[in-house]
Amino acid sequence: MRDKPVDLQKLFRRALLSQVSIGLDEAVLGDPPGDLPNPAESIDGPRPELVTVKSALKAGLPDYPEFPMDQDGPSSMELSFDSEFASIDEHLAAISDCQLCPLGEHRNKFVYGVGNPDADIMFIGEAPGAEEDRLGEPFVGRAGRLLDRILAAMELSRDQVYIGNVLKCRPPANRDPQPVEMAKCMPYLREQIRLIRPKLLCLLGRVAAHAILNTTTPLGRLRNRWHQFEGIPTLVTYHPAALLRFPAYKKDTWADMQELMRRHAQLG
Ligand code: SF4
Repeated sequence: MRDKPVDLQKLFRRALLSQVSIGLDEAVLGDPPGDLPNPAESIDGPRPELVTVKSALKAGLPDYPEFPMDQDGPSSMELSFDSEFASIDEHLAAISDCQLCPLGEHRNKFVYGVGNPDADIMFIGEAPGAEEDRLGEPFVGRAGRLLDRILAAMELSRDQVYIGNVLKCRPPANRDPQPVEMAKCMPYLREQIRLIRPKLLCLLGRVAAHAILNTTTPLGRLRNRWHQFEGIPTLVTYHPAALLRFPAYKKDTWADMQELMRRHAQLG
């Protein structure tokens, strides 16, 4: 994946067509929205200029602004990529019996991550849910299937990216992870990132964004800009579960994915 030459125009053209596959039959042009929109307003209130896929293709590539880099953001120090583990398999074997927090006692399966250990792009959510706990793989429920469709629209698959969570064990009743749980588990995620060495990170949802960027800034204000997590360009977007509840966010998510693709293409 890393050395594959990228035809940017072809990539965007195909991706635009693929929007249909994630339930979008229209593209949004103009400035991206700022803070997290009220779902009711985003459905019933003033709408941005809309164009169909067909007319967007006819007009050429969507002219959206590049996201700026958040220069003052937290965690901007360079990550040391030295790891005491030779591979993610070795790391998984070392931590899969973890009982550092109470979640370990009640898990069915340890949910480490899935995908290409040499991926350029790593997606990070918050924690396993019931299906993930049962199967031992992240993002396998309805939200996971939507993530697969989003990846397909980007002409990517699970085999080409890496998908993980902040927590490796399921919080009871799918409650938000507690600060102490995230503090115990974050070193494992850092180690995964060291071993995978992704070029880009994409944080899915508020919990992952707050844990990894060490901030309480609302998700809507974390979008539309690049952050850094220990030297790695990091983008924040909605969790696929939020898209299931509020389909109006799909357009914003698609804008985020276009930015991710643009940055990836630039990196080569
Ligand atoms: S959530 Fe993380 S820290 Fe807690 S038991 Fe599971 S692996 Fe260990």
